[in-house]
Amino acid sequence: MGRIMGNMVEKILALLINRSLFWKVGFIIGLCILINFTLTLFFFYKIKDELELAKVSSITFTYLENIIFIFVIFSFLLLILGAIAFWFMVKRPIDLIIETLNTMKYDPEKIDLRVFDKIKFKDEIGILIEKFKELLQNYRDLQKYRHLIENDESVEDIYERLAQHLKGLSLSSFVIYEVSNSQNTMRPVYKSDESLDINVEKIFNADKCRAKRTGKVVSSLDAQRPCKLYEYEGITNYYCIPIVTGNKVLGVVEIHLPLTDATLRDKNLIEKLKLATSYIEETAPVVESKRYAEVLREQTHKDPLTNLYNRRFLENILDNLTAQILRRGTTLGILMCDLDFFKSVNDKYGHEAGDIVLKETARVLANSVRKSDLVVRFGGEEFLILLIDIREGEAEKIAEKLRKAIEVHEFKTPKGIVRRTISIGVSEFPTDSSTIWEAIKFADIALYKAKDGGRNKVIRFRREFWTEEEY
Ligand code: GH3
Ligand code: MG
Ligand code: MG
Repeated sequence: MGRIMGNMVEKILALLINRSLFWKVGFIIGLCILINFTLTLFFFYKIKDELELAKVSSITFTYLENIIFIFVIFSFLLLILGAIAFWFMVKRPIDLIIETLNTMKYDPEKIDLRVFDKIKFKDEIGILIEKFKELLQNYRDLQKYRHLIENDESVEDIYERLAQHLKGLSLSSFVIYEVSNSQNTMRPVYKSDESLDINVEKIFNADKCRAKRTGKVVSSLDAQRPCKLYEYEGITNYYCIPIVTGNKVLGVVEIHLPLTDATLRDKNLIEKLKLATSYIEETAPVVESKRYAEVLREQTHKDPLTNLYNRRFLENILDNLTAQILRRGTTLGILMCDLDFFKSVNDKYGHEAGDIVLKETARVLANSVRKSDLVVRFGGEEFLILLIDIREGEAEKIAEKLRKAIEVHEFKTPKGIVRRTISIGVSEFPTDSSTIWEAIKFADIALYKAKDGGRNKVIRFRREFWTEEEY
């Protein structure tokens, strides 16, 4: 018997456990009332006999029975009222949160925060809703912000927008610095207040800036004078947030705060600074790709004869490019190409024909690789091609395709048709070397092997080339 009861209780619990909160609470309260009612009836009929013995009139019985009946009705009415209150105060707000979370997952644009305005009470649920709304608002603002900066045209526009958002947080004054990694310098690109003094030391040596050096937030709120360089000391507290992607610091946002104890205790301020950090985190990857794209567009980086990128360009982008390759875990193919016996074109047909052959070669090479690959005029008749995001071992095949394309090409010059071949040395980064310049040198070594081996060849760099004395 006991076991059957146990099983039944288990079944009822199992049935209940996955029901909504509304039914669970309803069940528990209903059960309490039922037990209460049963006990009352039980005792009432138990004392009934004794009361009869004591000669209490039957009218009194009916009276008591009516009272119990009214008590039951009241209990049920209260139960219904309780259910309605519960629905309004607990179930509905929680349902709204769940609904909004679902919308956020599938269609964040459609979220309407005004639905929460209906919930006005300031109890725990009210506070939960308030915090949830805040979180959602921040999330949406950040998303909107990211969308905006992604469509901004220049890096300057992005700094401007970041500055406007930081101003919106009403932090006191701040400066946005941009780091030039090739020169290891910093320059202020935005000052919230034009009269702010800028510390020049970090402009000349970016590593003097602790936030730049460490890639971490440096804050006088956490430690006393963490940054030796800081010039505004004695006037302000500071909170410096680096703009970081991967392990590269692209800039630093230096926020100046009032130097009072209240600043240190201000919870609101800490929240604002965290929000500022979120904005800066959203900004970093977009700034990185915009800066990269701007370098790519710049005309000073083009060789006028072939319209290919020049060496200066290569120096500017290599850091960024290799960091991206490492981050994505892909391979960069490096092809060092050199026209064979090109000097004889000049000698035989003249310099003008030589120029035409160079231009044509550049065109053929650029058209034979992907648009995203980089073709650089590395020297007179030397071209460096960087194949971006290839599979390991793939570079050699692409080089072979290029070699064939030049071999079959007829260069039309005023002096007649000229044919030339090309030799290509191939290496891969980071397969062959962990430093990009060394990998380029390896491609060059392979190119010499191709020339030595009779030209019109593709040679893939091998370790044993490197150990030879001659290099
Ligand atoms: P190899 O197969 O060993 O590479 O022989 P090569 O004749 O191609 O190499 P070399 O280095 O002896 O000659 C390169 C020539 O390219 C020398 C230079 O006059 C010519 N050159 C370099 N830049 C230009 C240019 O812009 N226009 C023209 N017309 N010729 C150029
Ligand atoms: Mg040559
Ligand atoms: Mg050469």
